[in-house]
Amino acid sequence: MTEKTEPARGTGPRRRHTRSRRLRRLALPLLLSAGMCLGTLTLAEPARAGQEAGRGAGWGGATAAVVDSTRHGGRTLALTFDDGPDPTDTPRLLAVLRKHRVKAVFCLWGEHVRQHPELVRAIVRGGHTLCNHTMRHDDMSTWSPEDVRADLEATNAEIRKAAPGAPVRYFRAPYGSWGGTPEVAAELGMQPLGWRLAVGDWEPPGTGELVRRVVEGVTPGAVVLMHDGGGDRSQTVEAVDRIVPLLRAEGWRFDRPARRA
Ligand SMILES: [Zn+2]
Repeated sequence: MTEKTEPARGTGPRRRHTRSRRLRRLALPLLLSAGMCLGTLTLAEPARAGQEAGRGAGWGGATAAVVDSTRHGGRTLALTFDDGPDPTDTPRLLAVLRKHRVKAVFCLWGEHVRQHPELVRAIVRGGHTLCNHTMRHDDMSTWSPEDVRADLEATNAEIRKAAPGAPVRYFRAPYGSWGGTPEVAAELGMQPLGWRLAVGDWEPPGTGELVRRVVEGVTPGAVVLMHDGGGDRSQTVEAVDRIVPLLRAEGWRFDRPARRA
């Protein structure tokens, strides 16, 4: 299953920040579908079960609101990478991030974790943050809370087996198809993690184009969605290597996503 529809149903473009006309054009179809998605989103009270159940091992007080901003705001952005770990592109991406001293979030596909547990340990050793992206990358928008919980717990179990003790701070629904997943994620101590900017690296459009989309599309405090798995992500890796120094030269800092919405 590919990531083709993920951004179209995400929370990315829903913010009210001023954007260029070109970006508005890019974002319009996304905005329409995001609006439909948001109609089903509930901004629920903080989950009580969170940490006491000890199953999510994220952090206490996670809420069902979808976070799509950085921790510190201002001229910052947070890089997030979905669908790995991948035996080719994840190690290359980790090397690029290490070279530039950038910490990112990795939203892990449970079956890929099972196949490549050593890569999860490498991600943790690199000081990056883990995010649950479900076992099989299913669209869960119509799933019952019980089925969602079973999948999320199974994914966390795989991650724990691969990297014992490493917290799983966030959850991201495949395709941004949230349905009832935010409430369940919060109960398990994981903050739902959306995005404000997706750059279509699943196409893939060429490294230079990816660089341009990030550099021109980023807004203050944006969580940015890219991919290190689910296909050939070599352009993404090369783009990140170029994006970091370009943005830093313009005064941007690389931050983590906010803990709460
Ligand atoms: Zn995905």
